[in-house]
Amino acid sequence: TRWVYTFGNGAAEGRASDVDILGGKGANLAEMASLGLPVPPGLTIVTQACTWFYENGRTLPADLKLQVQQGLRAMEDMTGRRFGDKRQPLLLSVRSGSRASMPGMMDTVLNLGLNDETVQALGHDAGDARFAWDSYRRFIQMYGAVVLGLDHEVFEEILEDEKARFGHEYDTELSAVEWQHVISLYKATIEEELGEPFPQDPNVQLWRAVAAVFASWQNARASIYRRLHNIPEAWGTAVNIQAMVFGNLGNGSATGVAFTRNPSTGESELYGEFLVNAQGEDVVAGIRTPQSITEAARIASGSDKPSLEKLMPEAFAEFRAICTRLETHYRDVQDVEFTIERGKLWMLQTRAGKRTAKAAMRIAVDMALERLISEDEAVARIEPASLDQLLHPTIDPRFDRTVIGSGLPASPGAATGEIVFTSEQAVEAESEGRKVILVRIETSPEDIHGMHAAEGILTTRGGMTSHAAVVARGMGIPCVTGAGTMRVDLRGEKLIGLGGLTLEKGDIITIDGSSGQVLKGEVPMLQPELSGDFGRIMEWADRARRMTVRTNADTPQDARAARSFGAEGIGLCRTEHMFFEGDRIHVMREMILAEGEEGRRAALAKLLPMQRSDFAALFTIMHGLPVTIRMLDPPLHEFLPKSDAEIAEVALAMGMEPSLLRQRVDALHEFNPMLGHRGCRLAISYPEIAEMQARAIFEAAVDAARETGAPVVPEIMVPLVGLRSELDYVKGCIDRVASDVMAEAGMRIDYLVGTMIELPRAALRAHIIAEAAEFFSFGTNDLTQTTFGISRDDASAFLTTYQRKGIIEHDPFISLDFDGVGELIRIAAERGRRTRNDMKLGICGEHGGDPASIHFCEEIGLDYVSCSPFRVPIARLAAAQAAI
Ligand code: ADP
Ligand code: MG
Ligand code: MG
Repeated sequence: TRWVYTFGNGAAEGRASDVDILGGKGANLAEMASLGLPVPPGLTIVTQACTWFYENGRTLPADLKLQVQQGLRAMEDMTGRRFGDKRQPLLLSVRSGSRASMPGMMDTVLNLGLNDETVQALGHDAGDARFAWDSYRRFIQMYGAVVLGLDHEVFEEILEDEKARFGHEYDTELSAVEWQHVISLYKATIEEELGEPFPQDPNVQLWRAVAAVFASWQNARASIYRRLHNIPEAWGTAVNIQAMVFGNLGNGSATGVAFTRNPSTGESELYGEFLVNAQGEDVVAGIRTPQSITEAARIASGSDKPSLEKLMPEAFAEFRAICTRLETHYRDVQDVEFTIERGKLWMLQTRAGKRTAKAAMRIAVDMALERLISEDEAVARIEPASLDQLLHPTIDPRFDRTVIGSGLPASPGAATGEIVFTSEQAVEAESEGRKVILVRIETSPEDIHGMHAAEGILTTRGGMTSHAAVVARGMGIPCVTGAGTMRVDLRGEKLIGLGGLTLEKGDIITIDGSSGQVLKGEVPMLQPELSGDFGRIMEWADRARRMTVRTNADTPQDARAARSFGAEGIGLCRTEHMFFEGDRIHVMREMILAEGEEGRRAALAKLLPMQRSDFAALFTIMHGLPVTIRMLDPPLHEFLPKSDAEIAEVALAMGMEPSLLRQRVDALHEFNPMLGHRGCRLAISYPEIAEMQARAIFEAAVDAARETGAPVVPEIMVPLVGLRSELDYVKGCIDRVASDVMAEAGMRIDYLVGTMIELPRAALRAHIIAEAAEFFSFGTNDLTQTTFGISRDDASAFLTTYQRKGIIEHDPFISLDFDGVGELIRIAAERGRRTRNDMKLGICGEHGGDPASIHFCEEIGLDYVSCSPFRVPIARLAAAQAAI
């Protein structure tokens, strides 16, 4: 078996694409060596050796030893030094490095090969005894912790005591003699703790260090990190054995880390830190304050410590040139580690630099403009979900926050306002120009107006798909749900937070819907920036994508927001949401409670002008873009009062006996409303409702067409169809009203009648339904409910358990179940198009804004996705990435 790959002197046996076997660090060290960059020579033990190690009781393969020895000989030849030599000893670093970057999770040992003899030789050879003893004490510390398993603090305590005794502040101030003294204490402690002396044989040191690095693959923090980042246990880590170069060889030496561009702003400027007379870990360990690499950054930070640019201009110039070269070579921002030994620069690591969402955007745009990457690549590099960070105000991280509770990050963005406990209070406060956070145990459809009026929503119950969460995401309002650590006292109008902290109505809180935190008082925010780089990326994304992106919009407000985010039409207008606005709920109730058709028609006549003006407004805002309107969908009792108190109130307002009202409400009660009298079933029972809605749509189309001069082509969608005959019946009503309105207006209106596919039967019979339906829209919320037989409103209790126990990976209401629900969509799309090959197919529902689901839609050739207004940019980007 081949266990070892070497690198050094302008050549390497591996390369960047060998990450799987060499790990990220090893592969990139090989690549840098091949590029002719100054990399200390070394060898990489492949990741398979780590697998072997664990499969064989934590032992190493026999033939590994020989291969490493051969590699070491090569390193000795390149450096002119010998491992364990008593005149010119070669020292080694033994470094971990897995396939996926796991920064700082595993272990590294530096300065290996030092013992009581080689330390003398090293000092002699370098002409600097202090340096040699400093290196030896570093080695003992690291080896003691990593290989011998001693606590870091054991050594730190000794060092602190001695430093104090010698009267020094910094490690660099200790003399050779002083270090020698510290080392004798280190060694004594080790012998005391372990009952054996510090190992003096360099070969013993080496092999124990290699085994320790393999063992660090399974240390606690690495295991946790892997679980959090879905990195397979089986991958294992490689081990890199490399010749040491010394940043601690006096004041002409240094070590540092840098990004080729600023990782938080994305600005195209070298950005990093270094320390003079130091080794690796010192920079991150915070022992001394690191200095800026560039003079510009030093000035910006107001520091009076010289930059690397000033201090070591030649090494700096070479370093800058190498950074540029690396960026051009890898075509991405690099995060590099380097050391300067007596003025000579050495590169020790390079990898793609992690960056914030904002920086990612800027870097992608800049690199495309620099022609380093294509526009498509720039688009592909932006994580769609990260746009959430950019589209909403966020809490300024520079300020302290007082957390008073936390829940689920249900709808992103941060919001500040006074606490209110009812929707009425929210509406009233808003009308007075005050900003509020609506705090409820949970929300219901009746809270829509209050939610609209609020800056943010906080509930103490409910999950990511609860009513509050879904509606808030739809409206683009920040929302935290299920804040179980907080308690709402509705009667006393109090919110009780962590530690019993009690807030009253009118007190100011801030919620962070991106993290789920609830904070006391007002907190400084950062505002989103929608032009500039963001606009550029969106422009390129729009050029690359095939599917169109529509929005789910129920109100003119939603429609306007969606247009500003680039929606190309409305894919779902849920008419019923309009019935909760203002006084309409009374007329709606009048209609529902009417004794017969006549009474219903009288109430419907009052609703007609309201619906008409809503539709006209939507058509006008959309200015000729397609608008899909869904006929009334929810069961009628959703519009009725429930509690005795509410019933009494409504009865009074309607001039009805409360007991009679209670009877009517009870009569409409259903055991399973989700599968009950709803959707097209309502239109079949009460065709007059469908007729009124159709009339409102067509009359609005006439009005809007006259006003804007742009033709309006309404797309009317019939919900919950399972049988073609259901659709035929409702379509009959719609067609009749259409011809009436056209005759009355003396104007032709083109329109489409289609259906939602949200029942498995509809998906299976799509070829038959398509004979009547002119388009399909996949209502994936209901289709998921009906395919799984799971009620979304009741699911959060057990779906979280399912996820925890590994029964399901994702919540199917958030990310589409490709295997089951997806299969039905695939079947319906295919069968529908078989009947009507130019049939328009789209998806509405939560999944329309989920990047993974959008990929699926592209794959099966849907024409559009429709999502809530604030997810439109995410959908545009995801649709582009799916098409690239
Ligand atoms: P990590 O993966 O935790 O970053 P590394 O293997 O990169 O661990 O080692 C950490 C630091 O040790 C490096 O940043 C570098 O400063 C130092 N180091 C590693 N190898 C060498 C070497 N051959 N010569 C000098 N310093 C080294
Ligand atoms: Mg490193
Ligand atoms: Mg539905």
